[in-house]
Amino acid sequence: MDLIFLGYPGSGKGTQAKYLSDSYGIPQISTGDILRDAVAKKTQLGLEAKKYMDSGDLVPDGVVIGLVEERIQEQDAVKGFILDGFPRTIAQAIELDELLEKHVRSITAVISLEVLKEDVIERLTSRRICTNCRRVYNLVYDPPPADGVCNQCKKTGTIVQRKDDEVETVERRLTVYNIQTLPLKDFYQKQGKLVLINGSQSILDVRSEIESKLRNIKG
Ligand code: AMP
Repeated sequence: MDLIFLGYPGSGKGTQAKYLSDSYGIPQISTGDILRDAVAKKTQLGLEAKKYMDSGDLVPDGVVIGLVEERIQEQDAVKGFILDGFPRTIAQAIELDELLEKHVRSITAVISLEVLKEDVIERLTSRRICTNCRRVYNLVYDPPPADGVCNQCKKTGTIVQRKDDEVETVERRLTVYNIQTLPLKDFYQKQGKLVLINGSQSILDVRSEIESKLRNIKG
């Protein structure tokens, strides 16, 4: 299964991609996570990407496509992968199709998490993440432990707000999404691959809707 998650930042792509990754035994490939790692390690790529990420803009297509091309050829992705946060532009989607064709594979389905813009603004600005293990918290419905110790990796002092989750940057990211990424729904609809999911339900209900729709696709 080669899957793509589409949806606003904060629509739940990362959470749901992780579930599918665990149940299908195929990797979740998040371009945002790869880029954040590069920023943390201050690599050449990270230094270049940081300015775009901090302002809520997209990193240039050429940079991101190269990363994905390398990653999907790794051994653990041979049986399939789940792309989370890629593609984000039509140019990336076209390149991805070409790349997969070269490797005699193709996208199985594109899962679009449908959530209202107002709801994601609230989710993103109250999101907190552990920079060590990437556990995601939410100040409202899943608050970080008061002692500051991450309850997944047990490290202290690693739970922070992503710089790009601050309110001004969130607005910019959503505008960028509407302009550059939203057209992908139409692109994949035309390929007959788009699967719409109600992303406003509880996390577990979203998960069941995705799994049942994917079962129908697999036949
Ligand atoms: P995310 O964690 O998916 O919200 O990504 C965080 C940031 O990383 C985005 O706002 C972009 O600056 C950058 N980024 C992640 N994925 C891509 C992509 N496919 N194309 C361009 N920029 C990306």
